[in-house]
Amino acid sequence: MGYNVAIDGPAGAGKSTIARMVAEEKGFVYVDTGAMYRGLAVYFLDRGIGPEETERMEKACEAADVTIRYEDGAQQVYLNGENITGRLREEAVGNMASRCAAVPAVREKLLELQRRLAKEQDVIMDGRDIGTCVLPDADVKVFLTASVRTRAERRYKELKEKGENVNLAEIEEDIRERDERDSTREIAPLKKAEDAVLVDSSRMTIQEVVRTIAALCRK
Ligand code: C5P
Repeated sequence: MGYNVAIDGPAGAGKSTIARMVAEEKGFVYVDTGAMYRGLAVYFLDRGIGPEETERMEKACEAADVTIRYEDGAQQVYLNGENITGRLREEAVGNMASRCAAVPAVREKLLELQRRLAKEQDVIMDGRDIGTCVLPDADVKVFLTASVRTRAERRYKELKEKGENVNLAEIEEDIRERDERDSTREIAPLKKAEDAVLVDSSRMTIQEVVRTIAALCRK
């Protein structure tokens, strides 16, 4: 069994940035489980499946093969043999990911892959249900959050820097909706594990968050 660090929290809390940095400092492999849901979302979108068509998702996901590879230390997502990492951050993909993540067959498909990765190596894995469901015996569990406003501002800045035409109020609304969907769904909802350490990054620098989490890791 590898040394396992679970980081859960809502969209935009900084999980991936922080997890990547802690991974580097500690020599862990960073596993981004959201990217796996996004990988399946790409598959559904390419097949013209709508966000409400859960039955079609259930059937379609049987033929979807999502795998993870590490190239120069960075996680790459392959969908039926094709590297689709470049498409994962599109807004439409994120929204579809959040929809398909509520479908049991989709979660089952990815759960096995996630557990295997954590068994084989030391990982820091981020997502929504890592501490509660995927790795209930993780060595360290963190619930990383920040206020909706802070998360929306971070996302706004990120998109603006990419030259996209964005609206802060819309982003905030989108984050609110996604939080609501992720935390109220029946299967594996976003929730702090009882034994997770709560870290609110609203008024912390990235370095402070990294230091806090790295200090929890006794390896
Ligand atoms: O973290 P990220 O925004 O990339 O995740 C995309 C979507 O995938 C989330 O909105 C969430 O609904 C879903 N997800 C999940 N469980 C995970 C990781 C992501 O349900 N472990």
